[in-house]
Amino acid sequence: LQKIIFSHSFIMMPRYDFNSLGGIEMNTDSLHRQLYATDASVYRILPEGVCFPKNKLDIVSLVNFARENKIPLIPRAGGTSLAGQVVGSGLIVDVSKYFNNILDFDAKAKTVTVEPGVVRHDLNAFLAPHQLFFGPNTSTSNRCTIGGMVGNNSSGTTSIKYGVTRDKIQSVECVLHDGSVVLFEAKEMEECFKKGSKSDLEHQIYQFFTEILSDPDHQKSIRTEYPKATVHRRNTGYALDALLNDFTDHKVPMLNLAKLIAGSEGTLGFVTAITLSLDDVPPQESVMVAAHYDSIKKCLRSVAPLMKHPLYTCEMMDKTILDCTKNNSNHAKNRFFLKGDPQGILMLELRAHTSLELNKQLNSLEGTLERMNLSYGHSVLRGKEIDAALNLRSAGLGLLGNIVGDEKAVACIEDTAVPVDQLADYIEDFTVLMGKFHQSPVYYAHAGAGELHLRPMLNLKKNAGVKQFKSITKAVAQLVKKYHGSMSGEHGDGIVRSEYIALMLGKKNHSLLQEVKRLFDPHNLFNPGKIIGPLPMDQNLRYQPERKEPEVNTFMDFSADQGILRAAEKCNGSGDCRKTTTDATICPSYRATKAEKDSTRGRANVLREVLTQGNTSNPFDSQELKAVMDLCIGCKACASECPSNVDVATYKAEFQYQFNKNNAIPMRDRIFAFNFGISKFIHPFRGVQNTLFKTPVLGYIIKSALGIAPQRSMPKLHAPLDRSLVAKKTAGSSQKVYLYLDEFTNYFDISVGRDAYELLVRLGYQVEVLPASESGRAYISKGFLKEAKACADQNIARYKDIVSDKTPLLGIEPSALYTFKDEYLKLASDKKNARKLAKNCFLIEEFIAREITRDHISPNAFTDQSKNLKIHAHCYQKALGNPADTFAMLNLPKNYSVTLLSTGCCGMAGSFGY
Ligand SMILES: Cc1cc2nc3c(=O)[nH]c(=O)nc-3n(C[C@H](O)[C@H](O)[C@H](O)COP(=O)(O)OP(=O)(O)OC[C@H]3O[C@@H](n4cnc5c(N)ncnc54)[C@H](O)[C@@H]3O)c2cc1C
Ligand code: SF4
Ligand code: SF4
Repeated sequence: LQKIIFSHSFIMMPRYDFNSLGGIEMNTDSLHRQLYATDASVYRILPEGVCFPKNKLDIVSLVNFARENKIPLIPRAGGTSLAGQVVGSGLIVDVSKYFNNILDFDAKAKTVTVEPGVVRHDLNAFLAPHQLFFGPNTSTSNRCTIGGMVGNNSSGTTSIKYGVTRDKIQSVECVLHDGSVVLFEAKEMEECFKKGSKSDLEHQIYQFFTEILSDPDHQKSIRTEYPKATVHRRNTGYALDALLNDFTDHKVPMLNLAKLIAGSEGTLGFVTAITLSLDDVPPQESVMVAAHYDSIKKCLRSVAPLMKHPLYTCEMMDKTILDCTKNNSNHAKNRFFLKGDPQGILMLELRAHTSLELNKQLNSLEGTLERMNLSYGHSVLRGKEIDAALNLRSAGLGLLGNIVGDEKAVACIEDTAVPVDQLADYIEDFTVLMGKFHQSPVYYAHAGAGELHLRPMLNLKKNAGVKQFKSITKAVAQLVKKYHGSMSGEHGDGIVRSEYIALMLGKKNHSLLQEVKRLFDPHNLFNPGKIIGPLPMDQNLRYQPERKEPEVNTFMDFSADQGILRAAEKCNGSGDCRKTTTDATICPSYRATKAEKDSTRGRANVLREVLTQGNTSNPFDSQELKAVMDLCIGCKACASECPSNVDVATYKAEFQYQFNKNNAIPMRDRIFAFNFGISKFIHPFRGVQNTLFKTPVLGYIIKSALGIAPQRSMPKLHAPLDRSLVAKKTAGSSQKVYLYLDEFTNYFDISVGRDAYELLVRLGYQVEVLPASESGRAYISKGFLKEAKACADQNIARYKDIVSDKTPLLGIEPSALYTFKDEYLKLASDKKNARKLAKNCFLIEEFIAREITRDHISPNAFTDQSKNLKIHAHCYQKALGNPADTFAMLNLPKNYSVTLLSTGCCGMAGSFGY
């Protein structure tokens, strides 16, 4: 305990006495401070602590505590903000864990009231049976929350049809700085003053807005300096322009301060409930037209006329994004709709209730494309083709952002919006500007909304990179101002853009915003450093510029990522690993606990922290790292599903190995790691072992003593399978295959091994089985990397001369077989033969699926019995192979009906389930 406290400062003495906050879950240890020091931006600030409120009363207590103790509060939800909105030095208040109930729903009125921590995707899943949905749609919608969307006034591809979050807010309930709870909703001016006395904060707030919005001078400067009215995505500063419209556009002046709270980034008050207006779900019939252009200019010139059609989306991507997917076999199939080599593509979506109506719209759109004569061709996509095209776009963007090394695509000017009819001119100027900074732009735009997403490539570990970061941002702010656009369309100001609000909105408006902030938050308690009184955009960066790069020695080879530190630094905080939708596996431990510490992001962040901030000779000897890695079940989902391929399962193996050097290794870990040797030794006495484990009392005692969950049944130990198979000679065809018997198949799942052998023999293959050997998987999972390397070297030596593309090695247990394809490349001494072997190893399903496509196997070889089969695929197969192979194989018998279940990780593979 002493070691934990003093060597690792795992438990820190808080500077504030949080005890008075009683029941609110509070963490002030260094682990949580590290976990919440970053979001999806380039910034890093260690907070004082993190708390997890459950309800409105908790928020009132927190606000009162903050005021009395002068500690800022940083409201935080999914933490996917790109501009540094949720990093800060106060107390992070995470509403995503508990404060996430749907409070009220009125199908008739089409409204819903939610707590701020409700995830947008979950809300829409709740609304789906009622044919309703919340329209604004971020690309993070499977993990971002309504509170976060309100904070940032988020939108996305649907904004041209359904507007932005601000357009959908009917009311917000807020806790103000004095602890009072107010409901901001649409009110006629007189109504605003009916309640309370003049000294009430709410009253003062209404008084203030009535005065400034009635003032012709203020009206004029708001109208002239804010972005042009046609820019519907506008997120710079506080939305005085939206308030002014309501105030002047109605016969009786109206005020709805909920619209001000939208986009205020948690700087004015703490939101505790939000009422949203809902839309009918979009019509089911849909079509997407992908218009092709030979220049960006032509592409963007056609946007304004095309927007006269009732489009649901109008997105643009350029050749660079498309080219990213060219040499990737997974994505190449989604390029089917491309004609020639376009410089730019517009993806135009139409929807209607009937196919007749849809075709009418389509004809009209095609007519416009022809008349304009700017595109050189177009493809019309329907059904799954649309999904494939959208997948291609996100894959291209993902690959673009997944760059190894210190130069990264940095969010700073990634969110500008200008009037649609000026988009082409703007982008021309933009290109010239980027040229001056030696940047080659990649164009990706929500074109229909005039919004351009572009990130410069910068190395923020260098002073020169940081300097450019600032100069580029300022230059772009000036350009956007020239076009009367918005520096932020949807991502918000945060730390990165707040410095430029005065430039964007003019000094007069900026001093009004300062007054707004003073009125709502005189003690600067709510998320300071954002919007008003900004933190400098080039300080508090995630990486210390010109830092001495720590040298981290690892046992495994991380050279493909330029070392384990840079591998961890690939995590940009996007939060994909916090999604809980059933179309993905990532990240099972987060799904179970909903704790940031159990997410892939949490693990990557803490790994980066200990490797860069620690000062011990073995940085991996860290209780923080142990705490985050403990529940990682090594499922590998992150390796393929995280857009940056942050492969925490591999980092965990390295951590465990290094950690074991300084710490006692539990008996349980040794038993699981060395199970092959143990099984080899004790299988002659397997009868005794199997009986002992089955005996209730004795079994309970033994399992408990070994650190195994006593409720778990143990797998039955068998006589080794290789004994009965190695000697067998099969005649078969000329196609010879090696069947690999791993540590699990040889002693435990022997019936599966025997069936696999039978299947191959009966299909006519010449099957050779060598004596079973360990893959090393069990060692890797417990950090015994030297032993795992010995397995890799031994298996490579054994198979390198006999396994080839003509005589492949077939494996049965995915986690064992994929060790050959994955970890051996990072462990083996003989890398050349490791790569050759990896190429010629297949999971048995993968091999059979390939043989089916080559017409080497036909349905006639199989039964015509009827069967309904459901496949729950192995996580390793999902991450490193393709469950579609199992599906194809099981579909071969004529009357089998097969379903590939949309399941995540069951957690029962490996030793986790014990
Ligand atoms: C890869 C990627 C893609 C993105 N794509 C889009 C996109 O398509 N469209 C888009 O608009 N954005 C996008 N974003 C930005 C981000 O996802 C959105 O702004 C999102 O709505 C933030 O939600 P969150 O739950 O993560 O909130 P957080 O980031 O946790 O918080 C957002 C803001 O809300 C405030 N806040 C949260 N809860 C409260 C509360 N209870 N009271 C007061 N203030 C509160 C916070 O202080 C903060 O200022 C993207 C981000 C990433 C990383
Ligand atoms: S681990 Fe991957 S998915 Fe998770 S936040 Fe980091 S980059 Fe995003
Ligand atoms: S290996 Fe699995 S459990 Fe571990 S971080 Fe990755 S997705 Fe999460």
